Amino acid sequence: MRRPILAANWKMHKTNAEAIDFAEAFVPLVAGADVDVVIAAPFTLLDRLGPKLAGSGIALAAQNVNPNESGAFTGEIAPAMLVDVGCRYAIVGHSERRALYGETDEVVSQKAVALLAHDIRPIVCVGETLEQRDAGAALSVVAQQLRGSLSEIPTTRAAEVVVAYEPVWAIGTGRTATPQIAQEVHESVRAVLSDLFGSTGAEIRIQYGGSVKPETVYDLMAQPDIDGALVGGASLDPEAFSRIVRFDREGAK
Ligand code: PEP
Repeated sequence: MRRPILAANWKMHKTNAEAIDFAEAFVPLVAGADVDVVIAAPFTLLDRLGPKLAGSGIALAAQNVNPNESGAFTGEIAPAMLVDVGCRYAIVGHSERRALYGETDEVVSQKAVALLAHDIRPIVCVGETLEQRDAGAALSVVAQQLRGSLSEIPTTRAAEVVVAYEPVWAIGTGRTATPQIAQEVHESVRAVLSDLFGSTGAEIRIQYGGSVKPETVYDLMAQPDIDGALVGGASLDPEAFSRIVRFDREGAK
């Protein structure tokens, strides 16, 4: 019912030449994969990477957006500018942006609404820190972030949203959440989505993110509420990311 969605988050990596090399290697490796594939690249790559992905079915994404239409916002990028270069998704509320740039749930909510107004699908990130998990607050923290980030989304547009559960302690640390830990949180995310959007909550795709590797993707994707992955480090290599897109069984228990 929910189509799997595997997304690369390249963060602040790659020049245009490196991105084009990636696309030339990656596109044939994932040809025919029956999933949605997304690449969230730095702004400087979008205009040249887009044509390299054209016809492959791989969607282009941004890693951030400013919620305003235009104006005096030095250094920022508006939703219409992302439309202009062919973006179909944008990440909002990544934990690095929450921690390093003060992105609050309110700002994440404004960005998600602004993106939908331009028919760009928001990938809304939530996740607890290690301290919050150790304090037994993981589920409540994630629920609060979801309510704060999604409450302005009309139910009629909610199915276009993708939620990424990314425990902060698992991002870039090599420490993937076990499939059981991830599923427990995803199940609770699904309950919040159903509370917010009724039956449409069951249509919203929930990705897991945090040190996903070709060796761990199969067991994660086998969980009933895990509909995809948001992948940082392992998405920089075309071969590794293609194995993730294909839910590689190698290394699975
Ligand atoms: C991310 O940045 O969204 C992420 C999950 O990174 P990594 O896969 O490197 O942990």
